[in-house]
Amino acid sequence: MTPADETLLDLALSRALIDRSARERADEETVARALDDHRTRVLVVRGGRSPLLGTGEDVRLALRPPSAADRSRVPWFLGRHDGVAYLAVDEPGGVDDDRPAGGGHDGGWASLREVGADLDDLEVGLLTTATALQGWHARHGHCPRCGAATHVVQGGWVRRCPEDGSEHYPRTDPAVIMAVVDDDDRLLLATGTGWAPGRISVLAGFVEAGETMEAAVVREVYEEVGVRVTDLVFRGDQPWPFPASLMLGFRARATSTRLDPDPEEISEADWYTREQLAARLADGSRTLPARVSIARRLIEEWYGGELIEPASGRRP
Ligand SMILES: [Zn+2]
Repeated sequence: MTPADETLLDLALSRALIDRSARERADEETVARALDDHRTRVLVVRGGRSPLLGTGEDVRLALRPPSAADRSRVPWFLGRHDGVAYLAVDEPGGVDDDRPAGGGHDGGWASLREVGADLDDLEVGLLTTATALQGWHARHGHCPRCGAATHVVQGGWVRRCPEDGSEHYPRTDPAVIMAVVDDDDRLLLATGTGWAPGRISVLAGFVEAGETMEAAVVREVYEEVGVRVTDLVFRGDQPWPFPASLMLGFRARATSTRLDPDPEEISEADWYTREQLAARLADGSRTLPARVSIARRLIEEWYGGELIEPASGRRP
């Protein structure tokens, strides 16, 4: 890996002001104390979505004081900021997209993926962490050793098995994502099988057991399109809790350009000049990943500026 003396990318979901207060949450009374404190703010998560105030770039989370019903919901302790405790509660049920949220939530309900780029530094960290915890709790209710149902302890950061006493922690799966550029400064962009037609992005894949992130970059690019890469430069990382990834962003230089896409994973792959990419976005034949993604930031870093997709009428 080439040492980088340049500033890392400014990534939407890497912003977080919250102090996770890990020592405090280990105290089993922490959540109860926070529920008794009227200054505490509670983030509701329902079916992966949260209530909002406002819209567009003025959007905010509709945080509320604790309610009596929160006690039975096993709130998660997200941490503290300026002395205020922040909790999240996972409410059962879904959200009707077509109906206003009511209760003063004039911005309706949305997921992290939809509003992560517009929330402020404190709130995006709250929603990113709550989304990650929800995804973990929803999929890890049983002990991987004995199969018994586990209990939530330590403010939602541990699940404990009542049978064998084992403790289990939120999973985070590292994944690499890489802007591969050839010696003519063209960017490799591909469409995954199953994606919407015309959607293009940089390549990505999970780090395998026993593997370094650098080895994963080299392996994934070769597996997916048959291209060899070198000169890796780390460009930044951000959590991507859909459901449990940590995206590790790289730039890499291709030492070969012949594309041999794996038909199981890639339906189309091509090298793009800046002019070609701009033209295909302008005519609507190609679309990019959302602004909240590290993929978008890697593409825009190569491009040298923000990319606008006129078809959507607004930055996606
Ligand atoms: Zn067990």
